[in-house]
Amino acid sequence: MSACTVDIVSTAPAALDPLPVLGHDVRVPLATGEEVTYAALDYAASAPALQRVWDDVAAYAPYYGSVHRGAGYLSRLSTELFENSRAEVASFLGCRADDQVLFTRSTTDSLNLLASALPHGCEVFVYETEHHAALLPWGSHGHRVRVLDAPASPALAVELLERALAARDPYGPALVCVTGASNVTGELWPVRELAAAAHAHGARIVLDAAQLAPHHPVDISALDVDWVALSGHKLYAPFGAGVLAGRPDWLREAEPYLAGGGASRHVVRGADGGVAVEWHTTEARHEAGSPNVIGAYAIAAACRALRDAGFDRLVERERQLVRRVREGLAAVPGVRVLSLFGADAPRVGVLSFVVDGWDSSRLAAALSAEYGIGVRDGLFCAHPFVRRLAGEAGEAGDGARGPRNAVRVSFGAGTPDEHVERF
Ligand code: PLP
Repeated sequence: MSACTVDIVSTAPAALDPLPVLGHDVRVPLATGEEVTYAALDYAASAPALQRVWDDVAAYAPYYGSVHRGAGYLSRLSTELFENSRAEVASFLGCRADDQVLFTRSTTDSLNLLASALPHGCEVFVYETEHHAALLPWGSHGHRVRVLDAPASPALAVELLERALAARDPYGPALVCVTGASNVTGELWPVRELAAAAHAHGARIVLDAAQLAPHHPVDISALDVDWVALSGHKLYAPFGAGVLAGRPDWLREAEPYLAGGGASRHVVRGADGGVAVEWHTTEARHEAGSPNVIGAYAIAAACRALRDAGFDRLVERERQLVRRVREGLAAVPGVRVLSLFGADAPRVGVLSFVVDGWDSSRLAAALSAEYGIGVRDGLFCAHPFVRRLAGEAGEAGDGARGPRNAVRVSFGAGTPDEHVERF
């Protein structure tokens, strides 16, 4: 594809603190009829697009073409950019030389893809604290799932896993699935130690980096995890793509996630009158159909933007914002911040809390109506975990049945100090 010579212009921002994002000047009405700029404090659900991602996508958009399918110039250019995006994501994630980077729809899709590729008889170990995307795919694909209790500390998490793995069939395949940063508490999990424990017991490990990757460097090689899954829309690239990166062997041996064009190398009429297929063994095996080229390109653009901004600075700035939110919440009577590992545990910019005497949905609605602040309330697709931390509804007098909702505030690289102060 060396014939493709168009330069897609990409401009790095001069200002790093905070990074420019779309939507920072959107005005929203308050209950009083006044207008304020919207304070997006729900990054954990979907982060706003980085301006630089948007600019890079806009610069590429006129050159968009089908990938792996056309002889025309734009098709060849798009194919080159799509494959370059794979390489950029691999570099961003510190992939090993033979790792594959698959473009998917999201973390949910990535983990379901992996679940569909597990060898027969694979046992899967997960903590009850996981997001449903990491909790549910394994059982749906017929694998035996061992659910570990929520540990009270990172050290206990490792201990629990060691104990569970020691009791498993040592000759069968096994997979551990763990989040890097909780979507409920924001707390960081001891991924490197869990990977070492998994490997010591002959198991593999997949890291759910949906909440970690937007806030923290993720290095597959350094963490020694086998796969990483993430979502573009949480990584400042809301164009509908996700990533599954890691070891190629199980993926190469599995049936294609979807059957169709692109995944198949040769298709012929079989002797029995049906069709016989030879599937690709590359990433294409699990990427049947026309891929989301813009989404993949946007994720690569986000990787470039975050790398150029420097994670050290982003992490430090976010640490200060977390401290400020914690101080603010601590000053409000009746607020309880949800935490598994303790108040001082390291965490990314994701905090959930309940307030005595307040229903969380009403509280979130009030933050929106009275202050123009967008947060999330609910159970955050982690029902067992929130139930454990927040308790049952009714305890605080809100009268509802079932697990108690919480409020979650989350922020990241584009969050101005003012949003946190307003909150
Ligand atoms: N894992 C975690 C920790 C999450 O927070 C989420 C989404 O909130 C997911 C997985 C699923 O991500 P997606 O909805 O993009 O598939």
